[in-house]
Amino acid sequence: MTDIAREVASRRTFAIISHPDAGKTTLTEKLLYFSGAIQSAGTVKGKKGGKFAASDWMEIEKQRGISVASSVMQFEYRDHMVNLLDTPGHQDFSEDTYRVLTAVDSALMVIDAAKGVEEQTIKLLNVCRLRNTPIVTFMNKYDREVRDNLELLDEVENVLKIRCAPVTWPIGMGKTFRGVYHILRDEVIIFTPGQGPLDEVEIIKGLDNPRLDELFPLEIGNTRMELELVQGASHPFDLDDFLAGTLTPVFFGSAINNFGVREILNALVDWAPPPGERDATVRAVNPNEEKFSAFVFKIQANMDPKHRDRIAFLRVCSGRFERGMKFKHLRLGRDIAANSVVTFMAQGREQIEEAFAGDIIGLPNHGNIQIGDSFSEGEVLSFTGIPYFAPELFRVVRIKNPLKLKQLQKGLQQLGEEGAVQVFKPLNGGDLILGAVGVLQFEVVASRLLNEYGVEAIFESTSIYTARWVTCDDARMLADFEKNLVNNLSRDAADSLAYLASSRVNLELIQERWPKLQFHATREHA
Ligand code: GDP
Repeated sequence: MTDIAREVASRRTFAIISHPDAGKTTLTEKLLYFSGAIQSAGTVKGKKGGKFAASDWMEIEKQRGISVASSVMQFEYRDHMVNLLDTPGHQDFSEDTYRVLTAVDSALMVIDAAKGVEEQTIKLLNVCRLRNTPIVTFMNKYDREVRDNLELLDEVENVLKIRCAPVTWPIGMGKTFRGVYHILRDEVIIFTPGQGPLDEVEIIKGLDNPRLDELFPLEIGNTRMELELVQGASHPFDLDDFLAGTLTPVFFGSAINNFGVREILNALVDWAPPPGERDATVRAVNPNEEKFSAFVFKIQANMDPKHRDRIAFLRVCSGRFERGMKFKHLRLGRDIAANSVVTFMAQGREQIEEAFAGDIIGLPNHGNIQIGDSFSEGEVLSFTGIPYFAPELFRVVRIKNPLKLKQLQKGLQQLGEEGAVQVFKPLNGGDLILGAVGVLQFEVVASRLLNEYGVEAIFESTSIYTARWVTCDDARMLADFEKNLVNNLSRDAADSLAYLASSRVNLELIQERWPKLQFHATREHA
């Protein structure tokens, strides 16, 4: 095995996904805590001087006021290098949230067991499905009154369309939460709130162990009964099905009480896949190749008008990145000197000098890098699978000063290419329309138009419900479609044709009427 192959085999790159408030931040902290990356929980968002804030990335953040400290975290666990990518929710929800999922090899889904499957989880899981990303599930908050266990699994299977394989099973809940039964290991792990990674865990072998009847006379009978049902109603864990994205191992616990965290880390290391091959259009790129390659999945712009830098987030796809090396920005055909490249460490270590497939590196730039751009040591590659997503929010753009129309168009063209927002030009020549998946995107665009292009733009609401990119092999039919629906059609920043639907019903109707046309909810980077 080459050095590179060994490094790649030890990599695990995953995103943590959930609906806001399910416990994503809490679990992230506990994963770092149990890996030894931080000494105590509560320091991940501890900002300046925090225990985990030692990377050179943080320097940049301090100097330039970019707050992305916890969006990528790297830590070691059991001789593996783990990259954890956050998927921002709440007000930060944007297309970047979706695109993060194109840069990972697996995902950890956190569900609030009192609430079940929620809206944002559904959206994120649908994106995971585009690449059949393997999913590990954590049912959180068992220290509270939660919903019926079997009902929860049922909901995951029906709503998220993925089979569930419970690996642990909860004993009781809320005030009577006693622990979990580990189905594969046939042992009970007793719930002790707040245990640290070095504390000894109390384990009782065998579900039939009479010790369990002594300890939990009121709960264990019910657990045994449920487990009999579960055996019939759910699926046994199968590694191949997990790797194919069709089955998810399910764990139960309470992140805030540090319970169930170690099992998640072990599942990621034992079962989640290392970086694999990536399609680069001309050929597939193997992560173990000698030569470096990478693509951009996210761009973070600085909102501070005094510092207009942007950071492009690159996922390494092959080879070895070394500080100081030169590599090529393939779209522009330009060399990049990698002295300024930043890496992301959760551990209190000095700058890291190397990165391998699965790792994320940050490249400061002044706006010449776009989502989906590929990098290599010279070979012409073009990584695929970094899509644009059909927006769910729309605004019509007007300007205060009509003399600034040129600047507005230029600004929106650039922001559209960069992936900050989607820009649609109506075929009938009406006002430009912006599309986004999170409201924050509009605020960012308004502020950047003002600061970078000197344009004061007004965004007005519109009754558009969603967009679908339209393609058809039959050029004549497409032309016919364009003529008939000119008032609902537009072209985006990449000049792709998009149908803007006023409602779900309207979209279905049009799809029925034009059966030969394809309506796409995502568009591959051009
Ligand atoms: P995020 O929005 O998904 O990042 O969720 P947070 O980690 O911020 O958690 C949301 C709320 O749920 C916070 O008040 C946490 O303290 C709480 N929380 C997280 N995990 C647990 C848990 O295991 N049990 C209980 N009772 N509360 C939890």
